[in-house]
Amino acid sequence: MTTLNPTATPLNLDQHPCFNPKIKGKFGRVHLPVAPKCNVQCNFCNRKYDCVNESRPGVTSKVLEPHQAAEYMAKILEKEPRITVAGIAGPGDPFANAWETLETMRLLRERFPDLILCLATNGMGLKPEHVDEIARIGVSHVTVTVNAIDPDIGAQVYRWFRDGNLVLRGRQGAERLLSRQMEAIRALKAADVVVKVNTVVIPGVNDHHAIEIAETVAAMGVDLFNAMPMYPTPDTPFGVLPEPSPKEMAVLRRHAGEFITPMTHCTRCRADAVGLLGEDRSEEFRGCLTDCST
Ligand code: SF4
Ligand code: SF4
Repeated sequence: MTTLNPTATPLNLDQHPCFNPKIKGKFGRVHLPVAPKCNVQCNFCNRKYDCVNESRPGVTSKVLEPHQAAEYMAKILEKEPRITVAGIAGPGDPFANAWETLETMRLLRERFPDLILCLATNGMGLKPEHVDEIARIGVSHVTVTVNAIDPDIGAQVYRWFRDGNLVLRGRQGAERLLSRQMEAIRALKAADVVVKVNTVVIPGVNDHHAIEIAETVAAMGVDLFNAMPMYPTPDTPFGVLPEPSPKEMAVLRRHAGEFITPMTHCTRCRADAVGLLGEDRSEEFRGCLTDCST
C-alpha cells in the first residue's frame, strides 16, 4: 500500500485492540464523530442515537469538522498516549460523508504519522475510487457491516437505501447494497487493507443466516468476523425483538470460527468512544470534544 508518508516508520498493525485481543488492555482507540448522515435506514436504528454498525446506542454525539477532529485528536493524545487507533464509525456512515471522512483521515495521517487509521461503514457509499484514496492515505483497517447476503433477508433488515439521489426499497435496494458491499470488500482486500465484517444478529430475521455470511466473507479473504447482538432500540421496528443472549452469541461465534477468525471481545462502542476497550472514557473527554466542536 502506498501511503501519504512513505518515509514514516511502518505502522505496527498489531496494535489495533479490536483486531488483536492480546493487546486490548494495553492500547486503545478513539472514534471521531465526523460523519452525521446515513445512506440506509436499518430497522434497528434510531438516529437520535449513535450508529450501531459499530456502536451501541447512547446519547447523540457531537459532530466535528475534519480540522476540529485533528485538534481533538491532539488533545486526546496529550492525555491518553495509549491510544494507537483513530477510527470513524458515525454517528451516521463514513461514506455518506465521504469528503469529511477522507479529509479527516488525510489530516490525521499528516499530523500523526504513527496512528493506525480505521473506518467502519455499511459499504453503500464505499466506491472503488475511495479504496484508492484509503490506500494512498494509509488507512489500514476497514470494517464493513454485512447483515445479509440474501437480498430477501436484506429487504427485511433495512427500511430504505439511498444511492446518490436514488432512494430504493425492498429487494431492489438490498441487492444494490449487497453488490456495493461485495465490490468494496474485494477492492479493499486487493489493496491489502485489513478487513473486518460486522453482522448485527437480529432474532428471527438474520440469526439463521449469520453463518452463511461468515462463510461467504471468509472465502473473500476477510480477516475477522464480528457477530454483534442487536440492541433492541426503542421506537424502531425491531425495538420489540429480544436481544440475542450471550449463550446464543457464543454458539454462533464458535460456529463462525469454523470458517473465519471470530471477534469475541467487541464492546459495542459509541461513535465517540475514547480509551481502552471496555474502559470507555468518552464522558471524561466530553469537555475536549465540546471545546473542539465550537
Ligand atoms: Fe443507523 Fe448505522 Fe444503520 Fe445508518 S448504518 S441506519 S446510522 S445503524
Ligand atoms: Fe472495536 Fe467493537 Fe468497539 Fe468497534 S465497537 S471499536 S470493533 S470494540
